[in-house]
Amino acid sequence: MEVPENLKNPQNARREGSNMKCLADYSVEKEVGEGSFSTVYLARRKEPKNDENPEVALKICLKRLILKNKMVPYIHREKEALALISREENAHPGIVTLYATFQDSESLYFVLEYAKYGDLCTLMQKQPDSKFNVADSRYYAANLLSALEHIHKLGIIHRDVKADNLLVKSDGRIMLTDFGSSKFLSDYQKIQENPVEEEQPTGRRSSFVGTAFFVTPELLTGSEMSPSSDLWAFSVTLYLFLTGIYPFNDMSEYLVFRRIQDILYTFSEDFPDENAKNLIERLLVKEQKSRLTSQEIKEHKFFESIDFEHLEQLEPPRIY
Ligand code: ATP
Repeated sequence: MEVPENLKNPQNARREGSNMKCLADYSVEKEVGEGSFSTVYLARRKEPKNDENPEVALKICLKRLILKNKMVPYIHREKEALALISREENAHPGIVTLYATFQDSESLYFVLEYAKYGDLCTLMQKQPDSKFNVADSRYYAANLLSALEHIHKLGIIHRDVKADNLLVKSDGRIMLTDFGSSKFLSDYQKIQENPVEEEQPTGRRSSFVGTAFFVTPELLTGSEMSPSSDLWAFSVTLYLFLTGIYPFNDMSEYLVFRRIQDILYTFSEDFPDENAKNLIERLLVKEQKSRLTSQEIKEHKFFESIDFEHLEQLEPPRIY
């Protein structure tokens, strides 16, 4: 799609402070994706001239839409979580880096690490039988686990872990993105002591269908979520990688939720790996405390061949 004129030649770029970035600092090249409230472009940093890695993803959120759809808390959360994770001392190769944020009268701008190959779910659907082989599933799951362990140590729960939120970089490595639903653990505990209704954004309901498959039993019963909620979604994601289908699936969202509440799922006769099956069985457990911890997952037989200390040394699958 054509890049709008106001992005090519920004007229009203406004610097809020001397170090603040603005639209004029980037040349916008092409649209690469659209969310419910945002459009994402491939852009290039203009300075410094000798930048070896000038490509960035420029996510533009229209203020009008954000306000109308009550998305303000989501945008704040995304910015806060990404800003914390993107600090030099907290950086993790498996999590998208936020380079800068700025705004003008109409839009909020997130300058993010660029993922050349888009999201892993779309790539998975292009594979033979729309799934990954065991080795590739193991690779992606190990990298997802490492990213989750990292954010949990920083006190963040992602709460929207799914293959769509894993982006593939030009070197084939993945990074976790979309922190709009995330929660800082301490905040969460405060909310539990003093519960307030979280306002439901209006437009997101329509995109909820995609996420329904990953919903946790605790979300359905209104119980407190914890890092193990992300590990539930991790195991749903691993099941999806290995089979191309969701463990909890049915004709309607309501029936999917019933299945999740009753932990009603099966493994087909030809499920490709016994160790993965055992791992998933020990994570798709209603009681959060009874699920494996991330340390226990790393020590599980399914990941026997993986050295989690040196994940970056593994060659990423070439699936694109
Ligand atoms: P929704 O808001 O409906 O939940 P979303 O979270 O996918 O959707 P965005 O984060 O705006 O919305 O992303 C829209 C699309 O842009 C994504 O599906 C992806 O294809 C692309 N995209 C997002 N971030 C990046 C990135 N860092 N690099 C490359 N492409 C990206």
